Amino acid sequence: MYYCKKCLYPSTKPDLWFTEEGVCGACHSYETRGSYDWSDAKNQFHKLMRENKKNPKYDCIVPVSGGKDSTYQVWRMLAEGYNPLCVTAPTDFLTPLGRRNIENLKNLGVDYIEVSVNRDVRKKIAKYSLRSVGDIQWSEHVLIYTVPVHIAVNFNIPIIVWGECGQREYGAGRPEDAKMVLFDRRVLEEYGSLNGQRVSDLLSIPGVSSKDLYFYEYPEPDTVEGLGLKGIYLDNYFEWHGITNVVISQALGFEVSPNNIVGTISNYENLDNYVHGIHDYFKYLKFGFSRSTDIACNLIRRKLLTREDAIFLVAKNDGVYPSEYLDKSLQEILNYYSVTSDEFHEICDDYTDYSLFKRTPAGELVRRSDGSPSLISNFNQYKNHIE
Ligand SMILES: [Zn+2]
Repeated sequence: MYYCKKCLYPSTKPDLWFTEEGVCGACHSYETRGSYDWSDAKNQFHKLMRENKKNPKYDCIVPVSGGKDSTYQVWRMLAEGYNPLCVTAPTDFLTPLGRRNIENLKNLGVDYIEVSVNRDVRKKIAKYSLRSVGDIQWSEHVLIYTVPVHIAVNFNIPIIVWGECGQREYGAGRPEDAKMVLFDRRVLEEYGSLNGQRVSDLLSIPGVSSKDLYFYEYPEPDTVEGLGLKGIYLDNYFEWHGITNVVISQALGFEVSPNNIVGTISNYENLDNYVHGIHDYFKYLKFGFSRSTDIACNLIRRKLLTREDAIFLVAKNDGVYPSEYLDKSLQEILNYYSVTSDEFHEICDDYTDYSLFKRTPAGELVRRSDGSPSLISNFNQYKNHIE
């Protein structure tokens, strides 16, 4: 395991690539963005919107969660004179704070559709996916992408305005995808955190049939092509920064948490799902890093945090055992999915990459005081030190 020379992204991060000099894809694409003509980008945006107007009432779909980014997206679209149809596929286990932020977004002056899939089926899928791919949030990763496409097809709205391009911001995947402007089925399948699990695999879950999976399936390719559907990223056309989005969203009524979120270094994201803590913990077990690293790296690139200070923050916060999340205990969260503590610990062990963590001479994991395994990390181990 080695780290990017400029930020703290590790070589274990899925789909991350490195230059010969040991700089990660996310840093590389940030630095080579060059000078960007935002006023030209804005003109291109308006042209695209004009050319793709089909529905007489709605200009586009904006997929929203109620979070800082989607609150900003909706505000931006309204400020630019558009009438978006906002669509939410709520999280697996929505928190009251998440609900308040959705209601706040609805007050911005937009039409809004919320698609809630069968909750019992979804719980079964969450439990199944925790075991099958180590991701309790798998259904959420699918539905946030497929639901807006279903609504686009049904309402004859050929343009979906997404927020940030993750391939660029987090450096995942092919270098050429850092310049991605369109989101389509390939992007979902390649980068949608599906971990190789297909929707059809869910049919092996007792009590789940194909009629339960309508919204999980991407609409038929012919239908999508017939509509001429385009998914675009707002951050290609308007300057985008997570922290700016927080400031603007808070001015619009968006609420943050009174405390920092467990396992992260912020209080302004991942507020809407009780299972985020479990999801982030599994990321740590599988890859030796988690959400604090993502946030810190983003700030390092923008020169808002030094790499040295980030090491302190990441070592302190990444991988903290999620014994509670937004005031709900792990046990209560597991009970919701009918997962016992023993099952949970067994699945954690199954997904732990033992080569990343300290072990006793007998091979047992060395654990920190919070119960989480202790990482073997040397943040100054770089690519060219090894090769
Ligand atoms: Zn980097």
